[in-house]
Amino acid sequence: METKTTQPSAPTAAPDPESWSVASSKELYRTEDWGMGYFSIADNGHLVVNLDPDRERVVDLYEIVRGLDDRGISSPVCIGFPDLLAARMQEMSDAFSDAIEANSYRGSYSAVYPIKVNQNRALVKEIETGGRTHGFGLEVGSKPELLAVMGLTVDHPDRLIICNGFKEERYVRHIMLATQLGRHVVAVIENINELEILISNAASFGVRPGIGIRLKLDSLATGRWHGSTGDKAKFGLTIPGVLKVVRRLREVGMLDCLELLHCHMGSQLSNIQVINEGIQDLARVYTDLQKMGAALTYLDIGGGLGVDYDGSQTNWDFSTNYNLAEYAETAVYRIKTVCDEAGVPHPAIVTEAGRAMVSHHSLLVTDILGVSRIDRHALTDEQAEAELGNEKHPRVVDELIENLLSVTPDRLLESYHDALQSRQDALTRFRVGLIGLEDRGFVDQIFWSICLKVIRLSSDLDPLPEELAELEQQMSDTYFCNMSVFQSLPDSWAIDQVFPIMPIHRLDEEPTRKATLADITCDSDGKIDRFIEHEDVAPVLALHPLRKDERYYIGIFLTGAYQETLGDLHNLFGDTHLVHIRYDDDEGWYVDEVIEGDSVGEVLGYLQYDVRELFQAIRRDCERSVRAKRLTAAESRVLLAAYESGLTGYTYLE
Ligand code: PLP
Repeated sequence: METKTTQPSAPTAAPDPESWSVASSKELYRTEDWGMGYFSIADNGHLVVNLDPDRERVVDLYEIVRGLDDRGISSPVCIGFPDLLAARMQEMSDAFSDAIEANSYRGSYSAVYPIKVNQNRALVKEIETGGRTHGFGLEVGSKPELLAVMGLTVDHPDRLIICNGFKEERYVRHIMLATQLGRHVVAVIENINELEILISNAASFGVRPGIGIRLKLDSLATGRWHGSTGDKAKFGLTIPGVLKVVRRLREVGMLDCLELLHCHMGSQLSNIQVINEGIQDLARVYTDLQKMGAALTYLDIGGGLGVDYDGSQTNWDFSTNYNLAEYAETAVYRIKTVCDEAGVPHPAIVTEAGRAMVSHHSLLVTDILGVSRIDRHALTDEQAEAELGNEKHPRVVDELIENLLSVTPDRLLESYHDALQSRQDALTRFRVGLIGLEDRGFVDQIFWSICLKVIRLSSDLDPLPEELAELEQQMSDTYFCNMSVFQSLPDSWAIDQVFPIMPIHRLDEEPTRKATLADITCDSDGKIDRFIEHEDVAPVLALHPLRKDERYYIGIFLTGAYQETLGDLHNLFGDTHLVHIRYDDDEGWYVDEVIEGDSVGEVLGYLQYDVRELFQAIRRDCERSVRAKRLTAAESRVLLAAYESGLTGYTYLE
């Protein structure tokens, strides 16, 4: 994917308070496009969350963040809205009900939520309870996930539990146990070795387990996660493998246990045509297996329902060229057509959509700790001109000043190239001692001044030469965020995923700075320099200049899927605080649940540090220092108390 080469205004564009409005912010940050009606900007310039489609229950995100701060829950904080989760489940259920009705489809629909997408207990419980009315189930991909789900579904054993992932003896024994407890479990055979384990355990437990087969679809691997399907996919059976399973199950008298056919076409599927063709292939296999005597009743089309992160509604990697209604219609129509042609009863359709179900419900808010601005060092033309011909400077300084004074719209690239050359000459001479440090610093200042002037004058160029687009990023500000990309936004680092990012207040003011974001880890990869733009990635984000004595907050949106659980402890920054916000018709928003982020002691514990031992070591060290008279006893007490409270404190900047 290419970085976009046409750029908006230069980093130092002059504010125009008259012409800026909330509508301008909506357009700039594309809130209405990716926000899907859940997020919008209020007249006071605050980002608001709409908890229902009629926008009757609306909460002000900035107010929530301030309110959390008053309660001692400081940013970075991950905020979840159970109402948005409920809304998403309702939308999925409605979309399939409508498609089923419109197509006179005779099967049912059930979503199973793959808990690996976000295993947070409160969230899974919310889906388990909220999904009851819709008949939704859960999907697990490992032993621990199955054990967790068994515990959560005690009161509703009838819900579908689909078991994917590698299965050894013990996983299969858990499946038998769950079946004996009355759970509706389907063990999906991912590779041929699992079949014999399943058959032998079924015999020894005296259980007739629900069995599924995961099919590798070779024709349609696509999207960023295309490795999840196709002949070389890690999971699933090829057609010969499927046939082998059917023959073996028939041989041992268990073909009636085969109730589900599954295929996961990949995650974040952007193109509806690919989905359409994949479902057609899958349905064809389904009908033929039926005819071979398999008692199939479920057709599981897997996950992959995409999220439109940039709101462009295109088949770009981080968008989708379809909506939920079209997805449901495609699935229902295609399956019905294939089944009708084959004279096979319509199956119950199952989806394993994870990302699309939970992305919207949570977001991360971080405060900006400070800004690094190159233009602080820039000189005005007048300041530079005053130095022209000053004999204390080397010749290259005059060269650069003359260049600065002669930058005009018709020779922007030329000025930039000349400036690069002059600066290079100055560096070479500095290395061999012909130029001192003061002059070297002055050269940089004039060089940056030229760059900024070039960027400013190039704002109307279309197309903007690539070099100047890169220059804008190099000259942009760096806003330091109180967060760890590795902990809170791992996909941004690992797979270049883009998320909508924007300030959550001051949206009635023009954001006059252009910036990239840096986190507080000591890792140069701990940065965000890819931002959403229509079907493209922008290298800089428009932000407001910081104000003295006012905290500036930005929100990172659609982070409910994968981000919370894939995060790691880089630099020992742990989980952020997680809060669930609910709404009361009389009192407005309130904090329903707070899951405190990791303390320093906890993250040290994860890595096998014995926190008590550490404390005792510091205590002994203090005592030695007191004896050696480097510390007084009172000072040692203060130091020890600080160490102790540091261990219980938040890992982020407080
Ligand atoms: N089902 C299976 C088997 C998966 O491997 C995945 C994710 O990769 C999912 C469902 C969820 O996919 P998504 O979150 O894209 O809907």
